Amino acid sequence: MQNFLKSIPHKFTAKEEQILQKAFEFGNNAHKGQKRKNGDDYFTHPVGASIILGQIFPDTPTLAATLLHDVPEDTGMSLETIEKEFGKEVARLIDGVTQLGHVRFKSSKDKYYVENLRKLFIATSQDIRVILIKLADRLHNMRTIEFIPPEKQKKVAMETLEMYSPIAGRLGIGAWKDELEDLSFKIVFPKEFEETKKLLEDELKKRNENLKDMQKRLGHTLRTEGIKYLEITGRVKRLYSLYNKLKRYKGDISKIYDIMALRIITKSTADCYAVLGAIHKHFQPVPNRIKDFIATPKPNGYQSIHTTVFDKNGSIMEIQIRTDLMHEEAERGIAAHWFYSEEGKPENSGPMKPSWIAELQAWHEEDTNPDEYLERLKIDFFRDRIFVFTPKGDIKDLPHGATVIDFAFAVHSDLGYHMMGAKINGKMASIYDELSQEDVVEIIKSKKPATISRDWLDAAKTSGARNKIRHYLNEHDKGIIQRVKELKLQDFKIARFFRKK
Ligand code: MN
Repeated sequence: MQNFLKSIPHKFTAKEEQILQKAFEFGNNAHKGQKRKNGDDYFTHPVGASIILGQIFPDTPTLAATLLHDVPEDTGMSLETIEKEFGKEVARLIDGVTQLGHVRFKSSKDKYYVENLRKLFIATSQDIRVILIKLADRLHNMRTIEFIPPEKQKKVAMETLEMYSPIAGRLGIGAWKDELEDLSFKIVFPKEFEETKKLLEDELKKRNENLKDMQKRLGHTLRTEGIKYLEITGRVKRLYSLYNKLKRYKGDISKIYDIMALRIITKSTADCYAVLGAIHKHFQPVPNRIKDFIATPKPNGYQSIHTTVFDKNGSIMEIQIRTDLMHEEAERGIAAHWFYSEEGKPENSGPMKPSWIAELQAWHEEDTNPDEYLERLKIDFFRDRIFVFTPKGDIKDLPHGATVIDFAFAVHSDLGYHMMGAKINGKMASIYDELSQEDVVEIIKSKKPATISRDWLDAAKTSGARNKIRHYLNEHDKGIIQRVKELKLQDFKIARFFRKK
């Protein structure tokens, strides 16, 4: 218990420590006598998972639930007993983890199918903390996978690669995504793993001196320019991510500029831009390789500035600039955001929540009827998502196959109701056009309300736009019926008037 607490970098209150102590003893007792495949006591697994989770999300009920996550499934102790001892919140989290364990995932080449499964996974868990527990559980199992039979290893590793690491990525938890990927990569594609590893090692031998030299010179440059920074570190690309990039570049490693990169950590956003300015003053930047993810964060909340510069003798180096808070968030993702807001820090200090998670949460909170909820889930969630931009650079997260009409209503209903045309990437386009990844879409608005036809309904893919169009069409029909009624009434009045006369 003391080692467990020491392994988590967080100061718990006496009350919190007491709860964790109780969960620790309860779990230890419940699993007594059970062994893991490597001969260790079974309880080392929930403790291991809980320590992993504690690194990024030291929330007491969640950690207690992690210590107890296999109890109802694997021991004689029931969920009711846990609820009596630890309360509703802990019991609900454990129940969520158990439920999620019953969802079976079949591997598939169809990437939409796999993506749908990921969404099903998220939808089933209902509470982000359940996913965090499940991911920590999987990471600990992956770290200790060598003791299970090879065939089972392959199956678990494949599932990790298809399901768990992409979800960790979507939630912005870079540290977990990277580790899950590399642990699985080694098992699922052993030959490719070894080849990539060899390639990386050769490259590191060649360029390590280069990196160290550049690190020194960058530090010197920043100090002479009087620009504040906290540290400059080297980072080496992860094997699985290098392997995927190599596939895209047909194995040509000379085309990959970010195998090694330097990372400059600063205290403030303003310092990030000052660092960028100083670097570009002293080192020639490679054109079109400056990416400002601070101004435009990635959909999962990732923030950083990336630039690539020419070094001496034509070699090339990527440099990533971010604040210490951004760095922390890149590692901990949604967990950092949630924990900070719980601690009472200002909401806007964290990265934005991935919008599809926020949407899903909102749906759970909203009082919608189950049929409608399922319809929306089907339409919006069981497809891949695309990310498109407004001219001002705001990101809209839409389902694959979405059209300009969906985009307009996603920005603002009023914009949808007054749309007369659109430009995609600066070119005139039809409002029925399908959007592609990273399109910049500008809606041309008219002063008068648009004439909305049934064609709009057919072209709209999101339930948001469809509901608004349906609403308009219903109102419109009602208007016509009303006018017909009024006319008849008038006829009647006129008739009566004439009769009287
Ligand atoms: Mn487990």
